[in-house]
Amino acid sequence: MSTLTATATTVIHRAYRLTLDPSPQQAEQLSQWAGAARYMYNHAIGAKRSSHRLWLQEVAFATYEQALTEVQARTAIKIPIPSTPDFNAWLTTIRNTHRDAAGNGSLLPGRDGREHEPWIHAVNRSALVGGMRQADEAWKNWIASIQQTRTGRRVGYPRFKKRGVAKDSFTITHNRKSPGIRLTTTRRLRIPTFGEVRIHDHARRLQRKIRAGSVEVTSVTVNRRGHRWYASLTVEETIPMPRLSKRKRAAGIVGVDLGVKVTAALSTGDLIPNPRIKALHAKKLAHLQTALARSKKGSRNRAQLVGKIGRLAHLEVRQREGYAHDLTNRLVNTWAIIGIEDLNVAGMTRSSRGTVEKLGKNVHAKAGLNRSILDVAPARIRRLLTYKTFWAGSQLIVINQWAPTSKTCSTCGAVKAKLALAERTFECQVCGFVLDRDVNAARNIAALAAVAPSTEETQNARRAAPGKLVTGTDEHRVAMKREGLQRVIFAQ
Ligand SMILES: [Zn+2]
Repeated sequence: MSTLTATATTVIHRAYRLTLDPSPQQAEQLSQWAGAARYMYNHAIGAKRSSHRLWLQEVAFATYEQALTEVQARTAIKIPIPSTPDFNAWLTTIRNTHRDAAGNGSLLPGRDGREHEPWIHAVNRSALVGGMRQADEAWKNWIASIQQTRTGRRVGYPRFKKRGVAKDSFTITHNRKSPGIRLTTTRRLRIPTFGEVRIHDHARRLQRKIRAGSVEVTSVTVNRRGHRWYASLTVEETIPMPRLSKRKRAAGIVGVDLGVKVTAALSTGDLIPNPRIKALHAKKLAHLQTALARSKKGSRNRAQLVGKIGRLAHLEVRQREGYAHDLTNRLVNTWAIIGIEDLNVAGMTRSSRGTVEKLGKNVHAKAGLNRSILDVAPARIRRLLTYKTFWAGSQLIVINQWAPTSKTCSTCGAVKAKLALAERTFECQVCGFVLDRDVNAARNIAALAAVAPSTEETQNARRAAPGKLVTGTDEHRVAMKREGLQRVIFAQ
């Protein structure tokens, strides 16, 4: 299909997800490794929390004792929050101590006075460090959230991960000098220290790319979703510089209204229906949950029900992911420029019930709205579009969320003062134009995208636009890194 003869290439960060087929013993062992990573996470969070508590006490003491204002006390008192480098030394010590003790089979108590588990040695060190890094990340996100330097949902005070509640997962970073994470065959993945695990289908495409040298593995995250184990291989992949096809160039701009009644309304008039995945499973889920509530604690029946509920939830997630991938593939493969609105998704999905003092308005309608929005996950669609447009040589333009795209007539430009959510049709009082509400919004988005001021996303996207190709690889690598795209999961 591609007529690329170009020598120009670019490096992207992406992930290949493989479904694993571990033996029952291996599955047990994978759970143990995930448990070890969780233990390290909890240890790190515990240490951070106690340092933070100490700091709060000192601040309170200083305001009382030294008559400082709270602001003064907060800047004057410094108690460092420990992070991975600090824990690393601790980890080395306990692993060494444990090695000494291993001879006679006894376990030495750790710094916290408790005995450390024998796995501390069996598990790859990198998996343990991965747990601590995750704790650093959680702490950083919380700080950013309270300082309001972070966009999106508010992040709460970092909590401990509970066994059986938190997702089983561990990450091992790759040592590039001695690549321990590798495909021994197209059907077997080798995880350092752990050994080889069978792959459910095959990884022929990935194997070919690794052999050709266009893909370099940087880390592997092994996690369990429902009854399945997956391995996400994060890679650096060299791809030909994306270019725009003639067909897409001719297709031009599309405006996309991510939405309420339908998943997406396009400025072309196409309405992409809501998959209603949640509703599809709701009845079955309700049935299982009733059975679970009636089951006896600790019974085999109960364990089976928990398993079934987990599978159902997992199926739902996979279906939702599949739907989002299909939609975004279709968009980036058809149009040169895609305009979307910068929705405040967290705000839209927050509970509409309000508080006791201030009851929410229109609770019933909004609750329905929230459910359907969660089903469609506009945030996911936007994230997918951000990197897929780059790969496809298209351009993503994000419109300021305060532009009145719903209330503006896409024909004459007159703006309505009010438009209730229940009004599904846009009727212009000025020119008499009548159109589906969401399609009208999509047309306005398309018009704004055509004259959009630069945002960070559009700048990144524009670098990949036709006629503005940069032939070096480094600039793109930097741009992609800044976007945090190395964390994007893309199913193979
Ligand atoms: Zn009008």
